[in-house]
Amino acid sequence: TMGLALEPAGPNRYRLARQGAMRVDAYVYLNESLRRDFDEPVALQQLADAASLPGVVHRVVGMPDIHQGFGLPIGGVVATDARTGVVSAGAVGYDINCGVRLIRSDLARSDASRQRLRQLMEAVERRIPAGVGKRSRHRELASRLPEILVGGGARLVELGYGTPDDVEATEQYGRVAGADPDAVSREALERADQLATVGGGNHFIEIGYVERVLDARLAERFGLFEGQLTVLVHSGSRGFGHQICADYAGAMAQEASRHGIALPSRGLAAAPIDSALGRRYLGAMHCAINFAFANRQLMTHDIREAFAEVLGQSWEALGMRVVYDVAHNIAKFEEHFGRRLLVHRKGATRALPAGHPVNPRRYVASGHPVLMPGSMGTASYVAVGLPGIEETFTSANHGAGRVLSRAEARRQFSRERLQASLGEVLYNVADVRAIADEAPGAYKDIDAVVDTLAEIGLTRKVARLRPLAVIKG
Ligand code: 5GP
Ligand code: MN
Ligand code: MN
Repeated sequence: TMGLALEPAGPNRYRLARQGAMRVDAYVYLNESLRRDFDEPVALQQLADAASLPGVVHRVVGMPDIHQGFGLPIGGVVATDARTGVVSAGAVGYDINCGVRLIRSDLARSDASRQRLRQLMEAVERRIPAGVGKRSRHRELASRLPEILVGGGARLVELGYGTPDDVEATEQYGRVAGADPDAVSREALERADQLATVGGGNHFIEIGYVERVLDARLAERFGLFEGQLTVLVHSGSRGFGHQICADYAGAMAQEASRHGIALPSRGLAAAPIDSALGRRYLGAMHCAINFAFANRQLMTHDIREAFAEVLGQSWEALGMRVVYDVAHNIAKFEEHFGRRLLVHRKGATRALPAGHPVNPRRYVASGHPVLMPGSMGTASYVAVGLPGIEETFTSANHGAGRVLSRAEARRQFSRERLQASLGEVLYNVADVRAIADEAPGAYKDIDAVVDTLAEIGLTRKVARLRPLAVIKG
């Protein structure tokens, strides 16, 4: 590597100054406690590589949960000029529109005994397959795939799997324009039978509760209160999006020299936005975005049915409304600093502040909820973006971020230690060793990560959640 060094650049900000092929500076956000333990040379090199992409503008950003990824680090934000820049399949990543959805309820934590929680988990698991490569139980929707790729979560609601209220509480109303099913390969379409499955590894459905309200006014606006039972869903576009990324990252790597692009790394394979390949990738990526919104919508439907069955009341009576659904692996055309840009966010979520017109209608006055899961044994946060967040292209951290690789976590954690770190939290595997790579200790300190942007007035914490029962992929 170039021996990249971070220099202080103001409170909780560090700069990786332009050097070598970099066209812009990179900035990384870390508070004192994160900075002390920060050791991510590969992620820094990946930020420097991203800063070398043609058409990259302003700055490249690394979030406090940054760690090594494929091409671009997880927790990376790269903006390119919408007219003259490139789009990078690798910078969006394999799990296109991986994201998080928070469902509220009118239930209290005390309504859910351990036995009840077990019943709820089992009822959810009967409906939603977890694990790699599982197929959808919603075979009735197979013939609807073309509509779903274009219509996303909104189309599913039209088909009866939710309410208009759900659409209002989804980023971009759960449907993006520009989806082109003809740009999707046959291999990808074959994997679309994974709709309404949670997926493997880090993906999860988590029953939890609001441990603490940190901003009373915003919590009320988001429908949250202390002691409330909640459900957090983390999943993306499954094998479908994965195949689209593989297809186009390969094609972009192959065609790069023809487009006069010197690729900083194979993982950052890119094509001009204004090229046939760039347009086709965007058309396919938009299908995957809609597919992932539909996936989380369908799981919401299934989770509501599971709760209604176990608790003997309709989901409406249980108050199971969607608080928000936000993507954290995505590229979007957005206005920043008076310019139209394509903002790539990988492991970073959008955090539009109050007054921003792109917020869903109901959240224009407050800013939309920003969802930051921590781990299956620690806290998760709901936050909101503040006006200063424009400096990160209105982006925030998407979680706590890994600090140990999966292999390293499996090596480090004994059964006893795992069990101790999970405390009373229920999980869906017989042997806790099976989820050692998802141990709380494999992730950074969520409090330090969330505080990094909050301490400098870029975000505001609204509520802290705690897990009770986690279904892992
Ligand atoms: P990613 O999208 O990068 O795979 O993961 C998002 C974030 O979710 C991780 O950085 C981690 O902080 C968080 N996370 C992973 N597993 C769990 C879980 O089981 N429960 C909660 N609440 N958060 C998790
Ligand atoms: Mn994912
Ligand atoms: Mn994710």
